[in-house]
This record gives sequence, C-alpha cells and structure tokens, in this order.
Amino acid sequence: MIENSMFEEEPDVVDLAKDSTAFPEFPALDPDEVVYEPRSSRLLVRGLGENDLDDEEEDYESSARLLGMSFMNRSSTRSPSASPYIRQAPPRSCSRPSARMLVVGVFILVLVTSMAMVLYFLPGCTFTKTGCPKANSSTPMELVYPKSTTGEMFPWNELRLPASVRPVNYDLSLTPNLTSMTFTGRTIINMIIQHNTKRVVLHSSEINIIKATFQVGEGKSVEVKVLEYKPWQQIAVSFPGDLKEGQVCVLTLDYTANLSHTYDGFYNSSYNDKTGAKRVLAATQFEPQAARKAFPCFDEPAFKATFLVRITREPEYIALSNMPKAKTTTLPSGMLEDEFEQTSVNMSTYLVAFIVANFTSITRNVSNTLVSVYSVPEKKEHTQYALDTASRLLQFYNTVFDIDYPLRKLDLVAIPDFLAGAMENWGLITFRETSLLVQNQSSLLDKQLIANVVAHELAHQWFGNLVTMRWWNDLWLSEGFATYWQYASLMTEFPQLYLGNVFLEERFKAMAKDSLNSSHPVSVSAQVTTPEQVSEMFDSITYEKGASLLLMLNSTLPDGQFRKGLLEYLRQYRGSNTVTDDLWNSITRVAVVQVLPQQESVSDMMRTWTLQKGFPLVTVSRKGGEVTLTQEHFLLSTDNTTHTSSLWHIPVTYVNDSCSSAPSCRQMFTLRNKTATLKVSESVKWLKLNYMNTGFYIVHYGDEGWTALIDALKTDVSTLTPHDRASLIHNIFSLSRLGRVSFRQVLSLLDYTTNETETAPLTEALTQLSSVYRLLDKRPELRLVARMKAYILGHFGPLMDSQDWGVEESVSSQERRSALLELACSLGRKNCTDQATALYEQWTNSNQTNRIPGDLQRVVFSVAAQSDSGWLSLLDTYRLTTYDSEKRKILQALASTQDPRRIVWILSTVLEGGIIHTQELPLVISTVSDGFAGHLFVWDFVKESWDRIIEKFPVGSYSIQSIVKSTTSQFSTQTHLEEVQGFFSSLKERGSQMRSVQEALETIRLNQHWMDRNLATLRDWL
Ligand SMILES: [Zn+2]
Repeated sequence: MIENSMFEEEPDVVDLAKDSTAFPEFPALDPDEVVYEPRSSRLLVRGLGENDLDDEEEDYESSARLLGMSFMNRSSTRSPSASPYIRQAPPRSCSRPSARMLVVGVFILVLVTSMAMVLYFLPGCTFTKTGCPKANSSTPMELVYPKSTTGEMFPWNELRLPASVRPVNYDLSLTPNLTSMTFTGRTIINMIIQHNTKRVVLHSSEINIIKATFQVGEGKSVEVKVLEYKPWQQIAVSFPGDLKEGQVCVLTLDYTANLSHTYDGFYNSSYNDKTGAKRVLAATQFEPQAARKAFPCFDEPAFKATFLVRITREPEYIALSNMPKAKTTTLPSGMLEDEFEQTSVNMSTYLVAFIVANFTSITRNVSNTLVSVYSVPEKKEHTQYALDTASRLLQFYNTVFDIDYPLRKLDLVAIPDFLAGAMENWGLITFRETSLLVQNQSSLLDKQLIANVVAHELAHQWFGNLVTMRWWNDLWLSEGFATYWQYASLMTEFPQLYLGNVFLEERFKAMAKDSLNSSHPVSVSAQVTTPEQVSEMFDSITYEKGASLLLMLNSTLPDGQFRKGLLEYLRQYRGSNTVTDDLWNSITRVAVVQVLPQQESVSDMMRTWTLQKGFPLVTVSRKGGEVTLTQEHFLLSTDNTTHTSSLWHIPVTYVNDSCSSAPSCRQMFTLRNKTATLKVSESVKWLKLNYMNTGFYIVHYGDEGWTALIDALKTDVSTLTPHDRASLIHNIFSLSRLGRVSFRQVLSLLDYTTNETETAPLTEALTQLSSVYRLLDKRPELRLVARMKAYILGHFGPLMDSQDWGVEESVSSQERRSALLELACSLGRKNCTDQATALYEQWTNSNQTNRIPGDLQRVVFSVAAQSDSGWLSLLDTYRLTTYDSEKRKILQALASTQDPRRIVWILSTVLEGGIIHTQELPLVISTVSDGFAGHLFVWDFVKESWDRIIEKFPVGSYSIQSIVKSTTSQFSTQTHLEEVQGFFSSLKERGSQMRSVQEALETIRLNQHWMDRNLATLRDWL
C-alpha cells in the first residue's frame, strides 16, 4: 500500500527544538473495555501445563484443565451448544482463599463482611487488566474468556488466532446489490488441522452469519453454531471432541452484510459521470485487517491460502478479481455470475480483491502477462501513461528479481473514491484516480507521481505478495522494500524523472520523525496486536526509514552483492512468510560487509539499525592527521543530557578536498564503538562525511570543520555533489535543533546558497527556512516574521525573479522552479504574484485552452484563490474538470484561502463528501493548517468533528496520523500544549493512545523550547 499523503503533501513543518520529557500517561481504558486476563497470569498457567501442543493450545487447554473444565470428555455430543467451554466467570475465584479462613472464630463476622464486599466488587476485578486484589494474585488459574454475543463463553482469549488450524483454500461467492448497498456471500474454507484442537477460530466483522456447516474429512456436513466475539472481530466453532492433527475439514458460512460506507472492507463508492448522473460501484480495500469485513477468514498475513472467487453482477457492470475470469454463467434471474480462476499462488487475505463497476480499460501483452489499466469511461484517455509505465516496470522487475511475475494478468484500476494512494492486491492493483490517471500532455512532474506509485505497487508483487512478512511488526519488509524499489527502478528505467531528489527528501523526512522519542524501531519487537497498533505501523519509519536502510546497505556492500542477497531471499522464501532476521541471514550467506577486516556480517550490522529506534549523530574532531569519530543517539530533547546507550555499526563514508565529488573518491570506515580514530593526510583541508547522504546518520564537524566546509563551498559550489550540499544544509539545521550549533552558524552556511542553482540543496534550504518562517508566523512576532521574510527574499529573491514561467522540460528544473515560486508567492513577492495572476487570466480568457505548465498550476491557482472571483471560478472548474492532477492542485488552492468563511465551508464540505470527496480531508486539513487564518480554526474543527472523522478514517491510520500532525505541529506555547494534551486524553479509546499523539505533544514541547532559546538570537541576527 502507499498512503496518499506520503507523496502529496507539502513538506511538513518540522519540529524545531529539543525535548525528552516523558510522555504524559493517559488514563488507561475503562475497566469495562478489557475483558481478558493479563498475559502474566496466562504464563503462570502455562508453566503448569503438561501437554505438547503449540503455545496457544497449551495456554488454553492447560488452563482449562486447571479450571476443572471437562474439555477432555470425548464422549460428549458434538452439538456446539453443549460446548463444555461454557463457563461463567467464577464468582468465588477471588474469594476462595478467604472462605478457608472463615474458621477463625471471633473474626468470622468481619471476614464475611469482607467477602461480601469482594463479591460485590467482583465483576470489576475479574475482568480487568489489573486482575483481582493482591491477596489472590498467587492463584494462577484466573483464566477468563470473553463472552460471545449470545452470552456463551467465547473459546479464545487472544487477539491473534490460534495456530491449530490452517486454511488451505477459500471458495468465495459474493452477490453485491448496488441499489440496496448490501451483499450476500458464501465462503467455503478448506482447512487442515495442525494440532489437535476443539475449536476453529477465525475473523469476521460486521457480517451477519445465517448458516454454518462443518465437515470433517469425508464425513457428513453438519450444521454448527457460530459464536462471535465482536470486540476482537472473531468467530468460533467449538467441538466436544478433538479435531485431529492432519484432518481436513470444510467450514461453509452463508451470510449477509452491508457494503461498507467507509474506505475499507467491501465498500461502495460513487462518482458523477459526464452527464452529472450518479454512478455507483463496489470495490475492496483489505489491508491491513478488513478482509474479515467481506468474508469470514483467517485474516493474518501468515495464513496464506488459495482463493477461488465468484461474483454475481448485473449485466451493466463488469467484475474484476485477482485472477483472470474463467467463465460467465447467466443465472435464471438474469444476473451474471463471473467465476475467476483459482489463484495459482498462495496468498494472504489482505491481498484478495474484487470490484464491480462499469469501468473500461486499455490492454497490452507484456512477457506473457496481460497488463490492463481500468478507469471510469470518461477518463479512458488518461490511462495510457500508466499502461506504458507499468509495462516497462514489469519487464524491469521480472529481470532484476529473476523471478517472473507469477500471474497471467495484471490490472491497474483507478477507483473514484479511494483512501490510500494505491493498494498492491495481487493481480488487481487499485489506485486513487490521482495516483494513476494523467493526461498525455501533462508535465513530467505530474507523471513522476504516477510512475512513483505504479513502481511502488509493482515492486510489492514480489516484496509483500510473493514473500510476505509474518506479522505487521515487520511490515517494513513489505513497505520498506516497495519504497526502496520504487526509487531504484525509476532511477534506472526513467532517469528523466529525477527520483533521486525525491528519495533524498523522503530520507530527511524519515529522520525528522525518527529523531523524536516517540519513534519506534523499523522492526518492532513490542506488542503490535490491536487494530490501532497495526494501523500505526503504516508510517514514514516503516516506509522511508526502511527504504533508507536498504539504500545504506546497498551502498555499503560491494557491487552486485545486495541484489544477490535479495535474490537468495526471494528464492528461499517465495510463497511464504518471513521475519527481519530471515532477510539478513539470506544476504549474509552471500555477502560480507566490504569495509571490515573482521568480516562483519550483514546481520551484525543491520540488526543495530532495525532493532532500535532512532539513528546516530557522528561527531568529527581532528588533530592534524588524526580524526576522531564519536557516535551518540541523535535524540531531540528539551534537556541537555546526552544519550549514550545506543550504538550502531555505522558504515561511515567520507571524501576530502583532494577528491570530493566523483563516486571513486568515496572512502569507507565502519564505526562500531562509541569512538574510533581514522588517519588522514595532514594536508587534507576538510572532510565531508556521508557521501551523497546514503547513510542514515547526521554529522557534526565541530566549529573548525564547519568553517572549512563553508569556506570551500563559498570558493567553489561544485566541490561537493548537490546531494552532499543538501545533506550539509539538512545536517546543520538538525544540529541547530539539537542545540549543538548556533543559528548564526546555520545562516553562515546558507550564505553560500546565493550561488546555489541545483534543485536538491535549494529545495532543502527553502523547506527548512519556510518551516522556521511558518512557526514564527503563528506567534505574535510580527517584526521577526517581517525580518525572516526579508532574509529569505534577500537570499533567494533574485533567483525567484529570474525563473521562467513558460514550459519547462526538465523535472529537476520544474521542481526547483515550483519550490522557489510557491515560496515567493506565498511571501507576497510582487513579481511572482503578478506573473501568476497574468497566467491565470490567460487561462480563463482562453476558456482554459491556453494551458498553465503543470508544475506552475499550484502556485498560479493558489494566487488566484485569494480573490473572490478567482476562488469561485476555481470552485466551478473543480466541479467540472476530469483532469485529476489539475483537480488536486485546484483543491489545494481552494484550501489555501485566507477567508475564514471559505475555510469553514471547505472543511465542512469535505467532511460531508459530495462535491469534494471525503478522501481529500487530510489534504485539505494540511493545506488549511499551513495558512495563518486557518491554523487555529482547523484545530477547533478537528476537535469538534473527531467522532465523525474517525468513522471514516480508522484510529491510528496514516490519514489520522497526518491530521494530528498537520493541526498541531505549528503550536509552540504552553497553552496549546495543555489544550492538545487535554483533548487527546479525553478521547480515551478513541485515539488517546496513538503514537501520533505522543509525537504531537513532543513536537509542541520542542517548538516551545526552540522558541525560548532562539527568539532572542534570531532578533539579533536576522
Ligand atoms: Zn506499499
């Protein structure tokens, strides 16, 4: 999956100060919310177990035995209603020891009273995480199972499913009704018993099961009772006797459900066609945990199986699924049933997909795979670029991974209402329209976005689909790789798209998040079980840091060895599931880290990067030819403590003044300890570490080191590569946040940028400066804001004014030009706003035939949207246009208005859906937040609308992370800190525990601290 806002938003305002204050403890969930015993008591029970079943079985069954349950009674009837597991919570379990003490004479009365009180409080203690009062804590058998919807005991008490049953094949038949927005389904699951067990537990959510039958081996199929435990979205069938290891069973479930009104599960979507008529369709989005909303299933990535899908539809629609269509049957009702081939591969449930819509397509045969791009009919002409790109990338990946794409067809489908950017369903990749459709004459910058998303999703067909992470804690094995390959493939196959600059910016963004205490390791060892915890794994650490670490490893290993290791990994694990160590072990088998005499293994090095959060700061100090390198954790905090406990094995690269820009200049040294010494010639004037910024670390050169580098750049900009220059700018701003360099030193480095013309360093400087500017702009610091503006325009004004407003061919120039002009116009530089206005008028006067270059559309529209007539005419265009890339930029322009009434209108309209699809809410909120007029209002809006927002966007999802971040990251006062803290803690299970909330509070504290420390200096120096 790729999240929409990952590539769509403007660079975020980054945190500007430092802090390590512990996060506030939010209130725990209400006791009533927690209906299971704590893990600790389960472990106690487990210690007493005596069978040799798998862990989950052992936990449950030995506990049951201790509880005196008659689950071994093999003679009992098979009727599930006679399930021996049914047991009321033992009311006396907390009071039993007290009862034994009742013999004590004169205290009888007192104890009886105590017992009565214990009994009175029992429901509270038995069902809480904290368990019963301490006097009873030595009783290990307090294993309590939740109650199912019928009041009977549900026979499982873990969010993860037991490993005792494995699905082999699903046979799904679905009949969606696009009028009533409901569907009926039949799911037949063939499964094999892995360990003796008395129950089958699987997932199901918002599904009304009408009938269930179960068949063991060749036996008779009998009707069974299905128990449901809604909070964990599980259903179960219990049996009086054991299902035996190796037995093959078939569970058949008939059910009805509503097509979802959110963006996951089997959901309905609509759009207006060119006549204005409303068209409906149904599509799926299952990752991470919504397949269970469309069909009951073992909805965990490790339960791979094959799937046969049948869809019944009205003749006016088409149906699509992962596999090619095998046959179509006309039913007596006149409806058509499409049967798709059974999947030729084992796959995880989250990759299953189906669509019923009236789409049209274009098609091409590529290396025995039929590649098609589908869209609504009126956008068919916008599909060609996606087809060309996908075809070329499919051939590229077939070659580079040395394993052919395993299916005979590959569909790419643009869905009018789609929350993520795209989803890699095997053989049926779904996209937001803006991520797939583009006009032929659109700018390369618009096409770059499409290529980026297509490359990401295609890479998933190997990394994620063919080899899948065992559980969501290792999601980076799917998303980090897809992100890495989206850049690697495009930089090789489409060099004209200049993805190198985008990848560099993404690495900087990942570092910003990873420098906070609220960050997490790429491979999470802590618990990732609740739906919120799983959703939160989809963040820039998993995607961009994951990809950055792969880039670092590739540039550390001798040529070709990284790919060799990956081929080994793909070959070994194709069709199955992995954990992070499997990857390192595969690469270690074929590669050793080049730079170490000790032949350090890839595992040794990479585990230091994936198992701990954060990244290192390398400080360089030099005495003649002796260079000392020291590492520490780069952690932004409001205290001045140094964080020394973490160590990384850092493949430090460096160049010096005698040879500094060619790849052959690069030298390497692994820093494994806290400190190490490196010898260089005494004649070396300066060193630049982290060549091309391929390493995931920040470097501090000390006063002398920085001065030497700054002097070198002032003498000759090209002495370092553009990415090295961008890296220096990024590093010095980061060090200023950490409090290691003064803002004067930052400005001193920026002095050289008056001679800078390359995209990467310029955009990095502009991003950093505008984030400082926007932060100051939200404070009552009018004079300082004016001086900051004067500083930016003084430095970059001539370059801004010299930009051409005509058609620009190179993507790199387009990126540079749009960054310069967007900042210029947003600061009100007249030359810019005049040119933008003129271009807008030409466009409207020519009835929109006189096109605005794609890279300039956003700035031109945003300037136009500041006037009444401009805003209204843009809104009209927004309603009518079918050009998606243009539409997105118009929406950003509309949301950039400084008119409070329009801000109110656009926020409530997007939440309502209709003219503006609700899928755009995160983009609208982030755009409104940037503006002065909107930033306070949007925070109130989010608070007031929270419940409606989380109806559409799941708690913890990337959209919610984005909304929390964009609305709070520009606050820098104690009042706002308390306000944000108060609001989120009041949400309890509706979001208070999210990592993004911790991140927001940490960021506000850092902003506050940075302001306290730097306002006075800024006043002096600007
Ligand atoms: Zn992805």
